[in-house]
Amino acid sequence: MNLDQQVYLDYAATTPMDDRVVAAMLPYFSEVYGNPSSIHFFGQRAEAALETARETIAEVLNAKPEEIVFTSGGTESDNLAVRGAAFARRAKTGANHILTTPVEHDAILHTVEQLGREFQFDVETLPVDANGWVDPEDVKRRLRADTVLVSVIYANNEIGTINALAEIGAVCRAQGVWLHSDAVQAAAHLEIDVEKEQIDLLSIGAHKMYGPKGVGALYIRSGIHLMPMQTGGGQEAETRAGTQNVAYIVGLAAAVKLAALEREQRAEHERSLRDQIIGRVLDTIPGAHLTGHFSNRLPNHASFVFENVDGNHLVMLLDAAGFACSSGSACKVGNPKPSNVLQAIGVQAEWLLDSLRVTVGKDTLEADVERFLAVLPGIIERARRLR
Ligand SMILES: *Cc1c(COP(=O)(O)O)cnc(C)c1O
Repeated sequence: MNLDQQVYLDYAATTPMDDRVVAAMLPYFSEVYGNPSSIHFFGQRAEAALETARETIAEVLNAKPEEIVFTSGGTESDNLAVRGAAFARRAKTGANHILTTPVEHDAILHTVEQLGREFQFDVETLPVDANGWVDPEDVKRRLRADTVLVSVIYANNEIGTINALAEIGAVCRAQGVWLHSDAVQAAAHLEIDVEKEQIDLLSIGAHKMYGPKGVGALYIRSGIHLMPMQTGGGQEAETRAGTQNVAYIVGLAAAVKLAALEREQRAEHERSLRDQIIGRVLDTIPGAHLTGHFSNRLPNHASFVFENVDGNHLVMLLDAAGFACSSGSACKVGNPKPSNVLQAIGVQAEWLLDSLRVTVGKDTLEADVERFLAVLPGIIERARRLR
């Protein structure tokens, strides 16, 4: 296998690090190595880097620096937001109701499931339409006096659909209910303004936007106090204990900044490749269905169900042909469990494992997409015969 010929079309699973991000991080491994909590020169230099990173991220989200808490990634941000809000709110008010969607990432899905099962929270799941889109009116109808938190994914990792966070934010704010959004995919592609959209808690992660794996942030609106999930020292305003991962946080900030600066040019490039993929697949492959919204979707994201094709099988055949895609979300490796997202959007039971996700990136070449589109119909035929 010639690795040079392998084409990566799985940017929703993770992205390669941008050289500029790596370069920004390097001094913070061995040159600027102080503990940001130390008061001496070495500590101050590390702390300065940490606070600059906080300012950079806050500016991009239209937040205040003190509203940004660093975490170990998207999963931890989601856990801290949901569990931290649920327990803090219940302790203060006795309220017990969590409102979420059936199309969340497992980091939310399994967290709310546990809160329901083990901690007696009353977890309610909103309906979604055939594109996995949440109607803000449904949020409005289901908000209750005892709702502790609403959590709605910003843009879906499996099917790309983008939710109307500003409208949902207005509904929640009118009732004084906290709104969390998992923006781990969205932040890589979309402009997010937590003030305009009236979002109270927002999760982001670096590795979906050309930053390092294992680092993320949670935006926490001023005045909200979460129950810490990790206790220890007083770091991160007593919300998330532990010496900060300075180099990785610098990398996260660099990635966030580049995503903001290059947003339009990246999206334009990706959208044209995405539309090429969607158009050609639907035109040339029989029994192909787009999942998620046709246009209100992430600019880099194409996702399908192919009748009578095992998705994992298809991914393996594509891999052997030199193309890396995924079926469902990356977290479903070796676990062909029907996706909660595809079930929620009403994909027929016999096609629930028949999905393919193709996600492009800022450096994806049009020639590679062309080669992919040229081989895909034949590979789907083979996968159908093998079934
Ligand atoms: C990747 C992802 C996560 C998890 O983030 P990690 O940094 O990998 O822990 C959460 N939510 C969504 C929507 C994601 O795409």
